[in-house]
Amino acid sequence: MPRRPRHSIIMEQPVLKIVGRKSTRTSSKRGVIQAIRNWCQSAVKKTCREKPMRQIKKKVVSKMPLPKRLKTQPNPIDSLRYEFACKKLTLTDSSKSNKKKENQHKIQFGNYVIDTCFKSPYPPDVYTQSKFFICEFCFVSIKTANMAKRHKDKSCMKCPPGNEIYRQGNISIFEVDGQKNKMYCLNLCLLTKLFLDHKTLFYDVEPFLFYIMTETDQDGCHFVGYFSKEKRSIMNYNVSCILILPTHQRKGYGQYLIDFSYLLTRHECKIGTPEKPLSALGLLGYQRYWDYTVLKHLNSEKYGQSQSIDNISTKTGMTPDDIIAALQRNSLLISNDGQYELHIDQRDIKQKLAKIESKMQLRIDPRKLVWTPPSYSSVHIDTT
Ligand SMILES: [Zn+2]
Repeated sequence: MPRRPRHSIIMEQPVLKIVGRKSTRTSSKRGVIQAIRNWCQSAVKKTCREKPMRQIKKKVVSKMPLPKRLKTQPNPIDSLRYEFACKKLTLTDSSKSNKKKENQHKIQFGNYVIDTCFKSPYPPDVYTQSKFFICEFCFVSIKTANMAKRHKDKSCMKCPPGNEIYRQGNISIFEVDGQKNKMYCLNLCLLTKLFLDHKTLFYDVEPFLFYIMTETDQDGCHFVGYFSKEKRSIMNYNVSCILILPTHQRKGYGQYLIDFSYLLTRHECKIGTPEKPLSALGLLGYQRYWDYTVLKHLNSEKYGQSQSIDNISTKTGMTPDDIIAALQRNSLLISNDGQYELHIDQRDIKQKLAKIESKMQLRIDPRKLVWTPPSYSSVHIDTT
């Protein structure tokens, strides 16, 4: 049998398709050529019929004077681009919101379910859960409710490790050494990262002390907040990171912990300031504390007694920079021929103090502190 040419299949299909409408004689060679001609002619006619229409339309449109507003309107391609850009934008926005959702988890912390704000490098098997569990005593992350219950009932401590150095009513503050309790402090840092983004304190907890604030009841010492502090700070930082859990905010605990950090600084016979940058909320809290402390000091001093920035600094534990900023905020520092003078109006100070004190909920009682400043600055010299 003669082999069928390979291209015959390709040739047959269009011919049969087109010719089939007008002529059935497609088998002969002449018929095939005629069919192709007919098809080409019809195709050319079709395009010729369509083209003038487009041209006319174009001409009409181009002759019509466009109002100014329409001239600035984007052409269809631009519109498409614009639409695409919008879609892209919405895609970007939705991806952002998705990312935000990725960062937002629910944690069960003691009796509270808390929405988190930022991403924290928890183990993937735990962090992929929409809600996971964090032990309120040791901060271990736990995947399921059953495992959390077993952990709580059997193996967990009921108060922070380290020494309880302050107790006032049901509030206690524990001093925890990052070197001695590394896992506890690391887990606390992971928890902190869920709520604070601007501080990064991970893996290197050994140079820090952690001051853990708890509320105590029959079930144990429940964590409410903390601050960390460098053991040796060249920059006189007395707070490195400070956090109050969202469930315990608006109770005055932030001011309480700030006040406590300055109480420790005064006991060390030092001056101190928090590590910068501060979060917006942190800055507001600190400014309120600095204003109150400076005003209180000026109010307690006898009228007519000479005052100096150094004197205020020694008594309060605040740095001169923070004191000057507080004085300026309260219009107590006046420039006189390049020299700054303290302008003390006792009545004005009393009014400002009363206003701040009316909002204060808790105050530190310095007599409740049982603490000897740890000595990290001494260098051991081996003479043997
Ligand atoms: Zn635990």
